[in-house]
Amino acid sequence: MSTKKNRQPGIHFDARYERHDTGPFHPESATRYRALCAALEDLPPSFVKIPGRIATTEEVLLAHASWYLDVVRQDAENFADQLRTGDTPLCPESYDVALEACGAVLSATDFVMRGEVASAFCAVRPPGHHATSDLGMGFCIFNHVAVAARYLQIHHGRQRVVIVDWDVHHGNGTEAIFREDPDVFYISLHEHGIYPFTGAAGEQGQGAGAGATLNLPLPQNSGGREALLAWDKKIAPAVADFQPEFFLISAGFDAHQNDPIGGLQWTDKTYAELTRRSVALAETWCAGRIVSVLEGGYNPAALASAAVAHVKALAG
Ligand SMILES: [Zn+2]
Repeated sequence: MSTKKNRQPGIHFDARYERHDTGPFHPESATRYRALCAALEDLPPSFVKIPGRIATTEEVLLAHASWYLDVVRQDAENFADQLRTGDTPLCPESYDVALEACGAVLSATDFVMRGEVASAFCAVRPPGHHATSDLGMGFCIFNHVAVAARYLQIHHGRQRVVIVDWDVHHGNGTEAIFREDPDVFYISLHEHGIYPFTGAAGEQGQGAGAGATLNLPLPQNSGGREALLAWDKKIAPAVADFQPEFFLISAGFDAHQNDPIGGLQWTDKTYAELTRRSVALAETWCAGRIVSVLEGGYNPAALASAAVAHVKALAG
């Protein structure tokens, strides 16, 4: 059944996300995004362009508290330059842009579930994995992968969803949202001892979700070899045990050796290898269905080259 055509991943990127204005000196900038889009523009036309859409309030509420949506909307409307819940820059358009970013990820899950593409990479901003159900922080407003996981369960009947997060920072928001959920398996590779100072190996989920969280903190300055070793020893067998019906990736690129914020030494090749391993697992357990969502990555050139390596590896 698998043809070259339907192994091509979809990609989504859109200059509209540049409207989320974080000010002249912020690392999560439109400048970094423009560099990424320029690189994605150069991909061959066989990469299917996935259109975005605006997430509905009901969809965002799958993973967020309604009062928190009001907070974001009010802060944006009131010209706040920071979200009142945490270190997240804001401009009057940020609420709308965050809804569009979330909607694009849902659009990509629809494309994958309909079989129009095997997998998809969504280059959206603001990022999402630090946002809990009611606390935006760490440059994140809405948690796109968390909303997508719930959307897959409710609208596509995919109960068991794995989220692999390889941003250099621990995705505390995603972990918190699914901490007691046995059906969403959150797995994080991240640098030990940095923001947001969560994600110790001992955090493994709670209650019914005990065992459905896997944190693999990596030592500062460690390279791709250590990450791939952790994948092969811990992640691959854990995913095989879980048998996911859909594979989501929180794809941050700030573990790159040239990133100004992260302290790991990954290369473009590391991202390609992590992607190949993700594809292999997804093909074994869920017909190759992957949606990958941009998180961090603050060196524009490194972000662009690493993301291209990721997308090319999604194509196989
Ligand atoms: Zn990050």
